[in-house]
Amino acid sequence: MQDLEGRIFRIQRFSIHDGPGIRTTVFLKGCPLRCIWCHNPESQSFSLEVGYRKERCLGYHECLKSCERSAIEASEGISVLREKCDGCGKCVEACPSGALEIYGMDVTASHVMEIVERDRVFYKNSGGGVTFSGGEPYFQPDFLLSLLEECRNRGISAAVDTSGFTDWKVIETSMEFADLFLYDLKDYSSERHRRFCGVGNEHILQNLKNLLDAGNNVVVRIPVVPGYNFSEDFDSYIEILAKLGCRRIDLLPFHSLAKDKYRWLGREWLMPEIGDEARSIALAFSEALEAMGFEVTVGGYF
Ligand code: SF4
Ligand code: SF4
Repeated sequence: MQDLEGRIFRIQRFSIHDGPGIRTTVFLKGCPLRCIWCHNPESQSFSLEVGYRKERCLGYHECLKSCERSAIEASEGISVLREKCDGCGKCVEACPSGALEIYGMDVTASHVMEIVERDRVFYKNSGGGVTFSGGEPYFQPDFLLSLLEECRNRGISAAVDTSGFTDWKVIETSMEFADLFLYDLKDYSSERHRRFCGVGNEHILQNLKNLLDAGNNVVVRIPVVPGYNFSEDFDSYIEILAKLGCRRIDLLPFHSLAKDKYRWLGREWLMPEIGDEARSIALAFSEALEAMGFEVTVGGYF
């Protein structure tokens, strides 16, 4: 294969929530959406970014001395001046306490495949494989396609976890190599989709329809975020899911576990505490969907 280079921010082995069986999930960096509830804020920008955990900082300021761009200032702990930072990682090497880390790394497709291959025996025994997630994996189309093609050549099952906000032509090309699409539908309302995710949903719905019409294996994943993309408006969701021809739905109740990551990135977490309401609504919606003949899971793909 042509050994392309791409940018990822994590590879998670033994994953059980990103498709069937035991999987390796490869998280690609970069996303065209900006969902207000995003659980992976470090995935959104394609740039390499510094994360700073103040609670680990010893205050000796080795990082300041190491930064050639004067992108770190002493404060109570330190402040990273993100507009000056190029993600070189020298401060991370200099920090003795692990208070700094870089989100993102450039890797070749063959390096990714080498890690994927380590768990081949588990994929075989569990019906698992690889899931390419993000961020938005189609944000790096050539890199993603080369990985998918390589999985197909090696007989490893591959899934794509996507927001669907990409060129249809790229999705269409990937259909030849992907065994499963985990397709996010963040809201049936385009107005709310634009307000909370940064873009309208028309293009996403059209791509989803194209995928389903072409007979692909698709699970539609809906985040349940009460007060944002969900109230009790089950009927509007059901109507659109039925019209599109979706059969398998995965409901993902909102949680606040990503809150600290925003702080590490120097960003504000704009979500309120939602508590158990997300799960209760997801369970009620699940019952309503099952009554209409949909296959539903709550809380991840099992
Ligand atoms: S990653 Fe490089 S440029 Fe950014 S703060 Fe650290 S040393 Fe400075
Ligand atoms: S599409 Fe996914 S990765 Fe992108 S901003 Fe939304 S939740 Fe985050």
